[in-house]
Amino acid sequence: MKERRFETEVVHVGYDSKEHLGSLSSPIFQTSTFTFESAEQGEKRFAGEEAGFVYSRLGNPTVSTLQDRIAALENGEAALGFSSGMAAVSATLIALTKAHDHILCSQGLYGCTFGLLSMMEDKYDIQSDYISMESEEQIRETIRPETSCIYVETPINPTMKVIDLEMVARVAKEYEIPVVVDNTFSSPYLQRPLDLGCDIVIHSATKYIGGHGDVVAGLLIGKEEFISEVAMTTQKDVGGVMSPFDAWLLLRGLKTLPIRMERHSETAEKVVEQLKAHPKVTQVYYPFDPDNPDYHIAKKQMRLGAGVISFEIRGGKKEAQEFLNRLSFLKIAVSLGDAETIIQHPATMTHAVVPEDRREKMGISNTLIRMSCGLEAWEDIWSDLEQSLNHINVAETTMTQD
Ligand SMILES: *Cc1c(COP(=O)(O)O)cnc(C)c1O
Repeated sequence: MKERRFETEVVHVGYDSKEHLGSLSSPIFQTSTFTFESAEQGEKRFAGEEAGFVYSRLGNPTVSTLQDRIAALENGEAALGFSSGMAAVSATLIALTKAHDHILCSQGLYGCTFGLLSMMEDKYDIQSDYISMESEEQIRETIRPETSCIYVETPINPTMKVIDLEMVARVAKEYEIPVVVDNTFSSPYLQRPLDLGCDIVIHSATKYIGGHGDVVAGLLIGKEEFISEVAMTTQKDVGGVMSPFDAWLLLRGLKTLPIRMERHSETAEKVVEQLKAHPKVTQVYYPFDPDNPDYHIAKKQMRLGAGVISFEIRGGKKEAQEFLNRLSFLKIAVSLGDAETIIQHPATMTHAVVPEDRREKMGISNTLIRMSCGLEAWEDIWSDLEQSLNHINVAETTMTQD
């Protein structure tokens, strides 16, 4: 990666057309298994004495191309592809922990990651603490002898709080605890946690990496040693592997990642400005908004603010739902990072699994709306939002309650 720029590597790294009959686009190796020329060759492949493919759960050439590319883009040594972001999250957390361990998490996590951690606590007594990670002292106070990893999302879904990754990595290093970062909301074009001293990066590739809303997939990037351990245990034996066709869709999506991220971010900045000036909007959360308390951290570690915005509207749950129902071409859907602008209500959708008291602590109220700016003209996105906001009727008595 070192010499060529990101925009070039995203198109080329990890693939050589000369090795594939000149095919410009990477072939899809749609095969479950690989034949051996002899019994002895099969024996050597299984013993790891000869390089080569064996069976697609253990490795596939199309998936390998994608793994090499994303490893280079995140500036990591190696990578693995998974059937979903949650398959990558679960394979990582299970590989890093044993019964009775402790995990230190950011306050505010993807809903299903929170669900997985709750299950691990119930079944294996692996306890988790959720903290804001706003100071070194707070992290030091919460680390225990049995803390096996620090798990961070930034920007945090859906409140857009930002955590200083360089600071977290510095403290974790003193205790030799690995830092795992879910980098889904930024993509490697906007933020590279490994460059900031973190150890492991996870992506829901379903989002910005795929970029077209047509694939569910996950990626894991880190040191060669950790990646091989996961490959031989929680990937091979748990089995959430990526399909060759999904790897191909992601290779295709990745080529336009820098262009898409620039556009998503530019549109989000424009929409944020408009939302902040609208009387029916009480709060707007966006990492690159100068009024965001974490703005300086965001600027330090992110190239741009990405396309996700959260905001609070006046009223309660009823008004939030009415607002979504009145949108004309903007779509009500969970997920993010697609060409289409999609918008949702975290309290009843993505974060409905999180108990209400914890939701409140995470800053997810009943009037919070999350939107992922697509690639449409920002003026059209805003005019749809505006007409719907203008239509909501907020009765005085419901202004502050639910
Ligand atoms: C979507 C998402 C996940 C889960 O990914 P899937 O591909 O849906 O399994 C994990 N983390 C974050 C931040 C996400 O947005």
